Amino acid sequence: MKVRNRSTKGLGIRMTSKIALVGIGKIAVDQHVPAINASADWELAATVSRSGTVDGVSAFTDFDQMLTDRPDIPVISLCLPPVPRYDYAAKAIAAGRHVMLEKPPGATLAEVHALQTMADVAGVSLFATWHSRMADGVAPAKAWLADKTITRAHINWKEDVRRWHPGQHWVFEPGGMGVFDPGINALSIITEILPQPMHLQNATLQFPANRDTPIAAQMQWTGNVSGDFDWRQEGPQSWDISVETDAGNLTLHDGGARLVINGAEMAAGKDREYPALYDRMADLVNSASSDVDLAPMIHVADALTLGKRVNVAEFHF
Ligand code: NAP
Repeated sequence: MKVRNRSTKGLGIRMTSKIALVGIGKIAVDQHVPAINASADWELAATVSRSGTVDGVSAFTDFDQMLTDRPDIPVISLCLPPVPRYDYAAKAIAAGRHVMLEKPPGATLAEVHALQTMADVAGVSLFATWHSRMADGVAPAKAWLADKTITRAHINWKEDVRRWHPGQHWVFEPGGMGVFDPGINALSIITEILPQPMHLQNATLQFPANRDTPIAAQMQWTGNVSGDFDWRQEGPQSWDISVETDAGNLTLHDGGARLVINGAEMAAGKDREYPALYDRMADLVNSASSDVDLAPMIHVADALTLGKRVNVAEFHF
């Protein structure tokens, strides 16, 4: 069993914990498996997926079976799309397991509140992850903005859905959130770095005539904060947040990895978002705590409540 030194709290060592990964699809393969394999905190002990497997790892196709057969696995990381995730999380918590949720943490706010209550009652940790908050520039941006007066902020989040969600029809089905599936990453950053809360004033949502979720959105919040989200961008992708203040301008580029303040480069990202999420999960389990911040998802729910619907051209993968 691997151990690693802990310098700040506890007994000074941290044991390696077994973890099961559920939903072996794009993000599990791209990010979760490499992050777990590179960590001294975690051993990937099982997968659950109807079609995906990871070489050398015990593979289940049925979640209930895994929970029954593997009481030695205390932590479950759910990489499923948001709609099926609640049932898995509820079963895992009922079986006394700690749970890590991919973003967005659920299909509705109420179901995530319910999971939080269940986790508290069961005495297990629940972590609603926001990987973009772990990008290199986010913490220094938050620190710099803490004592500034914000005069304007703008999100420019435009990417190619065919590249990042190839053939994934769930993103356009109810609960898939459409362009807010990536857009919630921007919202996770802006709700983290701005010193004051904001609330939505108006939004326009562009729905392809053949789909149930928006492919683009324009949003305006209090505090002179605006956002432009689009899933039809080909070529270079745009994941930028710019903030104007009484002490100059700050821009986060590349999804938060690159930070520029008044023209000077302050952070130029190495990609440690998912390793940082797994470090945080280890801390939460060790300190018997949970981390569930729904602020980014509240803004998506508000957009779907308040936004004006506009029909645009059909979308086909
Ligand atoms: P995905 O590849 O379409 O789905 C992940 C896995 O979930 C699938 O392989 C599938 O496994 C399982 N699954 C799908 N629908 C299911 C259902 N109804 N019931 C049970 N299992 C189901 O999606 P993804 O791109 O990995 O995204 C998953 C989550 O990660 C989303 O919340 C997304 O926002 C987040 N995320 C994605 C990206 C990205 O670049 N794609 C980046 C960051 C975060 P089986 O069919 O084999 O069971």
